[in-house]
Amino acid sequence: MPTDNVFFEITRPALEVEDDHRLFGVRRIYCVGRNYVSHIREMQEGDERDLPFFFQKPTDAIAINGSTIAYPPATKDFQFEAELVVAIGSAGRAIAIENALDHVFGYAVGIDLTRRDQQFEARDHRRPWEGGKSFDQSAPCGRLRKAQKGHIESGQIALFVNGEQRQASDLNLMIWNVPEIISNLSTQYELMPGDLIFTGTPAGVGPVIPGDKILVTVDGLDDLAVTIGNN
Ligand code: MN
Repeated sequence: MPTDNVFFEITRPALEVEDDHRLFGVRRIYCVGRNYVSHIREMQEGDERDLPFFFQKPTDAIAINGSTIAYPPATKDFQFEAELVVAIGSAGRAIAIENALDHVFGYAVGIDLTRRDQQFEARDHRRPWEGGKSFDQSAPCGRLRKAQKGHIESGQIALFVNGEQRQASDLNLMIWNVPEIISNLSTQYELMPGDLIFTGTPAGVGPVIPGDKILVTVDGLDDLAVTIGNN
């Protein structure tokens, strides 16, 4: 077996971990669609009782705290979605709701960046969401806080653009809570250490332009700040 790589050493994008000198290498990025009633209503789509559904972003879409996010190509409506991110620490399939939190390594603050015009065009033509959701730097994510310090089940989630509050809700308003999300997702995929789950956004999503500064806060977690750069 060869031991060298054609282009570069194979390394994973990684997140910092509070009070730990080691990095959390990211394996997959799963995202929950529609998980707050307020956001379903503002998008005027879906049924609030629908089962959760999932999409993925490429692992190298991770952007760490402090990043400048280049305004992406092929959109005129680049939008933010503030989300709680769950980091998986142990493998599991068909995980029972009551055991789900045992698989959580930690939590972080994330932004599900979205080319909204592409997402809507895909929706209207019954095509996959790929172009709207899965693109370079579309998954900013802050430093992880270990679940050993306590699970995150409620508390404010808020997003500010240039200091002005644009989203504000409470994590306890998620339609599917973290154990339910893990349990459901693990019936579709074997969850593995290194997986991240973006858990959905509340109302207030909207566009950003180059020069905008986005700040996301969740009670008990490190803030996440990114700047939108030029194309
Ligand atoms: Mn989202």
